[in-house]
Amino acid sequence: MMASVQLEGRRIAVGTIFCIGRNYAAHNAELNHPTEPFPLVFLKPLGALLHDGGSIQLPAYSHDVQHECELVLLIAQPSNDIAEDQVLDYIAGVGVGLDLTARDIQTLAKQQGHPWTRAKGFRSSACVSSFIAPQRLAALDDLHFSLEVNGKIRQEGHSAMMLFKCSRLIALLARDYGLSAGDLIYTGTPEGVATLYSGDQIVARLEDQITARWDVR
Ligand code: ZN
Repeated sequence: MMASVQLEGRRIAVGTIFCIGRNYAAHNAELNHPTEPFPLVFLKPLGALLHDGGSIQLPAYSHDVQHECELVLLIAQPSNDIAEDQVLDYIAGVGVGLDLTARDIQTLAKQQGHPWTRAKGFRSSACVSSFIAPQRLAALDDLHFSLEVNGKIRQEGHSAMMLFKCSRLIALLARDYGLSAGDLIYTGTPEGVATLYSGDQIVARLEDQITARWDVR
């Protein structure tokens, strides 16, 4: 099955799933992370995608899967060289998603110097909403998003608070890895990450434009 996302009613094939770590100062503080001189980048497999309305399957090997609610960018066209003031031409859509993280497994991986795939790349670890064109939203650096679990707000993000802003992230990813149409960029999570449990009902919102729902099986 082709991995795809919805952009204003159209189906777009997904390329690479890029994720940025440690991109909000308050989240770095809650997990005791240093501030990075360069964006911390990792990837998720396509099998990790879970669309709006899906059920999250917690991996049996973790006892501490945490939500990380993040602004997600959908890339419009290929490039390996994007000027920071031109990035809007390269963004097909903006959405909201969850970078689910098996925190216990990630902690072990860090201690052992192992990669994060098992901690962050399991099935349904990349929850994603539908996307809307950036032209229909406020400026990239003025986007609010939030996460509700069982009716209570858990995370509230504002893209102005990113340590590396969207335009800088896109320019750096294009330069270092190359970007292709359909690539997704999870831009990092604000503070408030917490453990998910079977039965949890999750709602993520981007401004008053996008709402996505998932439940935990
Ligand atoms: Zn994250």
